[in-house]
Amino acid sequence: MSNEPTTAARVHKSERSRALTIMTLEKLDTLALPSTPQFYELWYRYFDGDPEITRAIDAIEGEPDEAACQKIYTRFLSAQTQDAAVNKVNDQVQGSITALASMLKSASSATSEYGTQLDGVSEKIGEASTMTDLGNVISGILSETMKMVEKNKELEIELNNSSQQVTELKQYLDNVKKEATTDSLTGIANRKAFDNAISEKTVHATTSKEPLVLMLLDIDHFKKFNDTYGHQTGDQVLRLVARTLIGNIKGQDVAARYGGEEFAIILPATPLAAGLKVAEALRRHVEQKELVNKSSNEKLGTITISIGVAEYHPEESITDFVERADIALYQAKNAGRNRVQSAG
Ligand code: GH3
Ligand code: MG
Ligand code: MG
Repeated sequence: MSNEPTTAARVHKSERSRALTIMTLEKLDTLALPSTPQFYELWYRYFDGDPEITRAIDAIEGEPDEAACQKIYTRFLSAQTQDAAVNKVNDQVQGSITALASMLKSASSATSEYGTQLDGVSEKIGEASTMTDLGNVISGILSETMKMVEKNKELEIELNNSSQQVTELKQYLDNVKKEATTDSLTGIANRKAFDNAISEKTVHATTSKEPLVLMLLDIDHFKKFNDTYGHQTGDQVLRLVARTLIGNIKGQDVAARYGGEEFAIILPATPLAAGLKVAEALRRHVEQKELVNKSSNEKLGTITISIGVAEYHPEESITDFVERADIALYQAKNAGRNRVQSAG
C-alpha cells in the first residue's frame, strides 16, 4: 500500500480549502474588513478550526472590528509568519547552494573530458603522416578548446548569477531575522531577543563562573504621562528612554524593551556593585532629560525610572533570576520611585 493520498482524499481536501476560502472572503466582506493577507490568514484559520484563533475570536464581544482582528493576528500569527519567512528563505538558500554544487560538478566533468581529448593528441600527431592529417588533428584540438571556452563562459555567467542570488537571499534572511528580534517602536532588542540573550548569558555565566547582572527598569507614573500628553507623546518618551539606555551601556551589554514601558538590561562579566553604578547612572541620565514635544515645542517636564538590579546566582533558573530583579523593582517603586534597588 502506498502512503500517497488517494484521489478521493485529494479532491476532498481541495474542495474543503475552496469552501474555507469562500467562507473567509464572505466574512471579510460582511465585517467590512480590508482583505489583506493577514486578515485572510486569520479568518481562514478560524474557519479551519485553529483552537487558539477560534477561542480568541469567539471571545470578542459584538462584531469583530479591524482593531480587534489586528490584535489577535499580532498575538497569535505574526511571529509564526516571520518564522515561516525565515524557513522559506533558508530553503531558497539551500536550493541555490545545491544548484551551485551541481554546476561545479558539471564544470569539472567538462574539464576532464577536455583533458582526455588532449591526452590523445600526441598519439594522433605521431600517427599523422600527411599535412592534411596533421591539420585535422589541430582543427580537432581547436574545436575542443573552443567548446571548452564556451562551456566555461556559460558556467562563469551561471555561477555569477547563482552566487549573487545567494548573497541577496542571505541579505534578505538577515533582514527578516533582525526584524524578528527588534522592537518596532524603539528600534532596540525586543522581548524575543531578550529571552534568547538571557538564556545564552546565564549558561555562559555558569560555565565561565563570571558574574552577570540583570536590571529591570520601569518608567514611573507613565500612565499619568500618557493621560496628560497623549499616547503619541508617550511613544516619543519610550524612544528617548531606549536611546538613553543604548547610549550608556557597553559593547556586550544587551538592552531590550521587555514590555509596555518596561526595559531590561543584561550586563555580562559585571558584579553587582558595578551593575548598581550603571543603574544609578542611567536613572540620573533619564531624570535630567528635559522633555519637549517635537511638534508643538511644549515643555513636558521630566520623567523618572525605577530600577531593580540582581546578580545571577550560578545555576539559578532564569525565572527565579528575573523574579528577583522584578521584586527589587517593585521595592524601588514602593520606596518612592526614581531609585535603584538591589535584589536580596
Ligand atoms: P508605576 O510608576 O507604578 O510604574 O506607574 P505606571 O503608570 O507607569 O504603571 P502602570 O502599569 O499603571 O501603567 C503603565 C502605562 O504605560 C500604561 C500605558 O499607558 C503605558 N504604556 C504601556 N505601553 C505603552 C506604549 O507602547 N506606548 C505608550 N505611549 N504608553 C504605553
Ligand atoms: Mg510597568
Ligand atoms: Mg510604570
